[in-house]
Amino acid sequence: MTNQNFFVDIKALHPEVTGSLISCSVRLPNQQNIKFIVDAGLFQEEQYSSLNQALEINPSEIDFALITHTHIDHVGRLPMLVKNGFKGNIYMSEVADILVRPALENTLQIFNQDTLNSQKPKVAPLFDSEDLENTLSMIHPVKFYETFSIHKNIRCVFYKNPHILGAAIIELNIHYPKCEPIRLIFTGDYSKKNTFFTTRKLPKSLLNSNVTIIQESTYGSTQTLEVEKTFDSSICSAANKGYSIVIPVFAFERAQLVMLKLKELQNSMLLDKKIPIYLDGELAIKYTGIYQKLKFMFYKNAREFFPENFKFVTSQEMRLSLMNMHEKKILLTTSGMGGWGPAKLYLPYFAQKKNCLIQFPGYVSECSLGKKLIDAKLGDEITLCDGKKITKKCIVKQTSEFSSHAKADELIEFDNNFSKIQALLINHGPKAAQASFKSKAEEETNAKSVSIMERNLIFRIGPYGIVKTFFQTN
Ligand SMILES: [Zn+2]
Repeated sequence: MTNQNFFVDIKALHPEVTGSLISCSVRLPNQQNIKFIVDAGLFQEEQYSSLNQALEINPSEIDFALITHTHIDHVGRLPMLVKNGFKGNIYMSEVADILVRPALENTLQIFNQDTLNSQKPKVAPLFDSEDLENTLSMIHPVKFYETFSIHKNIRCVFYKNPHILGAAIIELNIHYPKCEPIRLIFTGDYSKKNTFFTTRKLPKSLLNSNVTIIQESTYGSTQTLEVEKTFDSSICSAANKGYSIVIPVFAFERAQLVMLKLKELQNSMLLDKKIPIYLDGELAIKYTGIYQKLKFMFYKNAREFFPENFKFVTSQEMRLSLMNMHEKKILLTTSGMGGWGPAKLYLPYFAQKKNCLIQFPGYVSECSLGKKLIDAKLGDEITLCDGKKITKKCIVKQTSEFSSHAKADELIEFDNNFSKIQALLINHGPKAAQASFKSKAEEETNAKSVSIMERNLIFRIGPYGIVKTFFQTN
């Protein structure tokens, strides 16, 4: 039975890939309103960074927060909401609860560095360490696959999501006597499989229910077959030539994944075990320690992910000696796009060396140092953030084979597990990818309706999908 006073209003407050925040307001037939958010991420795209300062919701009105995973573009603004009056419970998986502290501490560190950096306009940090501690104290860790109640009318289940360690696909079940329940599925960022851990299939009862899916579309215009696997040959060929190799990595999972990959290359005799391998970056070293502690959860062949002849870079002296010595080496360094961490020191140095490969194992955003290095031709001059100029003499390559986002065909495969999709709401992707994925989903899934979430466009969702859509006027 439907009741027109029973619905949930959903709107995305992010326009594209980062700054993930979905605001939801449940209306129960007894007139009670319950407000919640899914994720509260930081905007990392240069063109949207001013949105970090803007609070488009009243945090004191939010009853609870659900967190899909601990990438900074999904959790980075949580302490800002707490600072501004959010007092509700924060639900995230037990593993995410272990991973969230280093993510937020790093965000705070970046704010403080930004404040010190005289090149950038002064902006007040979004939160301080007290807000951070308060946020951590509000977390309710959740066991995967177990239903729990958030409110007498709201039940929730976190399913393991292969996107990254600790990530969840969240099912929210809003029920009311004598009404068909409203079932929402938030995919968060989604990947089909993970190198470190396994996941279970979603339960049949859910797959055969009426659902509204809120789905990411970061790679919504890419097919799996289009992704070229070039990492192995690129690294091995440079190593055989005696080049020094620099691999800028994200601290969380990417660094550990590249370590495992190098170990596999060593084991298959494609990479000489005598070449020393280093990892530099405080956050990456911290996460590597957490991965080591949690390795009992991993596939057997991924538990020992440290390559041979491996060292952490733990001092400035060690860093400088790595830059001065002429022996060949493989150096993993944060940040993944080159703009932060020791990569800011290493990349300009190695970019000017002939016998060197800089291999980006993932996405680099427009305007990042990584993008400048990739786009420049050999011999081109590159201007760094501090205004210094360097000449590119090294080889620079990029691969997207380690991406932790599903491609269009894998997103469709996910959707086609469900037999009664009442509405499919596409969010979290570059605009072109969102549009491309919408057409594909309309053709290849059984979804009754497929829509793109735009900032401030509200979708009123009932048990059988969209009741109406309207723009918020305020
Ligand atoms: Zn993510």
